[in-house]
Amino acid sequence: MTNVIYPTTNFKATEQIVVERGEGVYVYDNHGKQYLEGLAGLWCTSLGYGNQELIDAATAQMGQLSYYHAFGGKTHPMMMALADKIRDMVPVDNAKIFFGNSGSDANDTFIKILRYYANATGRPEKRKIITRERGYHGVTVAAGALTSLPANLTHFDAPVEALGILRTDHPHYYKGRHPGESEEAFVDRIVGNLEKLILAEGADTIAAFLAEPITGASGVIVPPAGYYEKVQAVLNKHDIMFWADEVICGFGRTGNDFGCTTMNIENPALMTLAKQLSSAYVPISASVVRGDIYEALVEPVSEVGVFGHGYTYSGHPLGCAVALKTLEIYERDNIFEKAAKTGAYLQKKLAPFAEHPLVGEVRGRGLIAALELVSDKATGEGFPPSVAGFLTNACAEAGLIGRPVAGTAFALCPPLIITEAQIDELTDKLATGLDATLAHVH
Ligand code: PLP
Repeated sequence: MTNVIYPTTNFKATEQIVVERGEGVYVYDNHGKQYLEGLAGLWCTSLGYGNQELIDAATAQMGQLSYYHAFGGKTHPMMMALADKIRDMVPVDNAKIFFGNSGSDANDTFIKILRYYANATGRPEKRKIITRERGYHGVTVAAGALTSLPANLTHFDAPVEALGILRTDHPHYYKGRHPGESEEAFVDRIVGNLEKLILAEGADTIAAFLAEPITGASGVIVPPAGYYEKVQAVLNKHDIMFWADEVICGFGRTGNDFGCTTMNIENPALMTLAKQLSSAYVPISASVVRGDIYEALVEPVSEVGVFGHGYTYSGHPLGCAVALKTLEIYERDNIFEKAAKTGAYLQKKLAPFAEHPLVGEVRGRGLIAALELVSDKATGEGFPPSVAGFLTNACAEAGLIGRPVAGTAFALCPPLIITEAQIDELTDKLATGLDATLAHVH
């Protein structure tokens, strides 16, 4: 009997894995059983478990300065160094960085920054945010309203209208296409819908368009070629910012440094970072703001005096020290280049699963992928979510941890340090899980 209220869990579900320790790409339960961590925890443990350099960086920082804050003119060397490092890495001009503790609170920060910006630039009406159906951007009251997955919205009465959040199409061709529609026609239709929404609401009421370059929790959707180019053209025409949520894509996940690079998204105004920023050894997030947007926030200071937003743990020294060491390791060990190669290998090994009777689509880029489970390959008809749940348990039984996403798909997102031999092990275990699921549904 436990007294924990578990997050994102069916309170009546009985399955539990008690994870006791981790090493490299593996974790071990309380019976000593080994699992290949095929989802890098929650899409985050890029350098795997037990990395001694990260442990040493954390230990040294605890001894040097266990806590300091960043309010009212205080700072510390690790926070300044980390901001410099992120600024050097991100494809955002003259970036300035606000630190938080999670992807959700980093997205909340942006909702507030967009409102502050609207007021500061004398256009207080220009504050609505366009997000996409099925998008996932966190679960706090505000970030939860940006999220479009039903489980995160229904029953919580998220303040969607109060925050001026609008929704547009999800760019999933396999599920969203009309009969006979080409990829190009699909893109033109959904980008056309985006522009119609902007015109109907009035461009002068819309501040930003929010998207994960390649989505994670909404099913690992890689939009068709040309999608982001056309979206950016519409946004530029109507003076609407591109807000890239790189919480999962950031830092080598998609075969490049950032998802924006992979998907040709240029110089976004805002970029959310978390998870792999510290390889999830400690919680830290970053809200990255393009220089020109930041400059506009500075001016109203003469009137308001203080930018009244910040967390006790904004820029916590432990998070900053571990994140700095993580970014140093990424660079020194060419982790992104190596992950691009193993990522191509993962995609090659997964492609043949499209022939499996239960799989309608295999999709992904770099070291992130998903299998769409279908009951009818011809129509693409999906199963109820219990089937993705069954597959998840069957894979765990075989020693592989993955995650059901969007009800009908099974996601994989292993640590960036995974080797080709470990990918072979992953796909063998996946095949075992899929065959057990096939036997179950037939
Ligand atoms: N944005 C994206 C794209 C995410 O995948 C997540 C979490 O999975 C979040 C935001 C929220 O991050 P957190 O769980 O750290 O609050």
